[in-house]
Amino acid sequence: MIMADKFSMTKEFNLFDKMAKHEQVVFCNDPSTGLRAIIAIHDTTLGPALGGCRMQPYNSLEEALEDALRLSKGMTYKCAAADVDFGGGKAVIIGDPKTDKSPELFRAFGQFVNSLGGRFYTGTDMGTTMDDFIHAMKETNFVNGLPEVYGGGGDSSIPTAAGVLYGIKATNQLLYGSDELGQQTYAIQGLGKVGFKVASGLLEAGAHIYVTDINEESLKAIEEVAAKTPGKVQIVANDDIYSQEADIFVPCAFGGIINDTTIPKFKVKAIVGSANNQLLDDRHGKLLRDKGILYAPDYIVNSGGLIQVADELYGINKERVLAKTKHIYDAILEVYQDAASSGKTTEESANEMCEKRIESRRKRNSFYSAPTKPKWSFNKIQ
Ligand code: NAD
Repeated sequence: MIMADKFSMTKEFNLFDKMAKHEQVVFCNDPSTGLRAIIAIHDTTLGPALGGCRMQPYNSLEEALEDALRLSKGMTYKCAAADVDFGGGKAVIIGDPKTDKSPELFRAFGQFVNSLGGRFYTGTDMGTTMDDFIHAMKETNFVNGLPEVYGGGGDSSIPTAAGVLYGIKATNQLLYGSDELGQQTYAIQGLGKVGFKVASGLLEAGAHIYVTDINEESLKAIEEVAAKTPGKVQIVANDDIYSQEADIFVPCAFGGIINDTTIPKFKVKAIVGSANNQLLDDRHGKLLRDKGILYAPDYIVNSGGLIQVADELYGINKERVLAKTKHIYDAILEVYQDAASSGKTTEESANEMCEKRIESRRKRNSFYSAPTKPKWSFNKIQ
């Protein structure tokens, strides 16, 4: 009798039901290296699927699959919002990043990515690093988000932080009739790669900021930056950041921070930050709207990094990336205006904006045009 292990599928498990609108799910199995991975391709209407590769010791196949499906769908929306020529995909490797990595495992993963012939581009995500992808890149060219020494765009937190500042500017424009950054106060959670740059940008503009981080070094570093403008930075306890009397809350640490506990504490007029998946649940978007707090959908605000990764395939040009990142300002204003006129939450408006963008491209691809190859194009499966 064959014994089921924790990665076998249960009787009730119907993969096609789970896939819903996903185009393709690839199960990768390489017993010689221990690689067990799932590549989920959600939608390639806008271009080849793009999404990082996560490595995690998932407890079950269902859990790994759910993550791949959820995250790849999220990438479709992110790419549509950022208006890049990519669709949504994601890979997950089932394993402990501390103990289960080997060069051979990532080479095997690279071979699976390569077997998709350019339908899926990937790179680092939680649990994987550039050191891992150096091995994968020996097997495939479909890797992006590279460091500068490998011919990539380098630190993606630079455009991400620039995008957050554009999102804040758009918010100020709507709320205060001017997109100047210096007149408002901001409560910033997390002074890591993105948050520190956002805080520095706001200080440079003359703003007053409340900040918190669990890392003392980051707090010391921001105090040094603020030495030139005394009295502009106030460090607050981790849990107190939600209740500051600031104009805008800027979450740049972790997800799920808009929830039943924090919403009653907020005194801000808007929330604009880089953290992924800020709303713990869709209903929290409605609760924010009912409380009169404007919410800038995270996946638009934080798309600067994605814009850089997508742009890498056209050759490296930091100015072009920052110019594209500027569009976040218009995208956020468009979402605010649509939500205000329709009564939808800003998240609902953003999702619809993305779905419309995908649909209009789908229609555009529905007729035959001469087979000349544009200067830059991806082969689309017809
Ligand atoms: P990071 O790890 O460099 O920074 C996170 C910071 O949050 C750290 O300084 C950490 O000490 C702090 N932090 C952790 N727990 C905290 C707590 N309880 N209270 C206060 N501070 C806490 O990460 P990052 O690259 O700056 O990204 C920040 C967020 O933006 C993450 O949610 C990330 O997923 C998202 N994001 C980042 C990028 C990017 O380009 N780096 C792109 C899109 C989204």
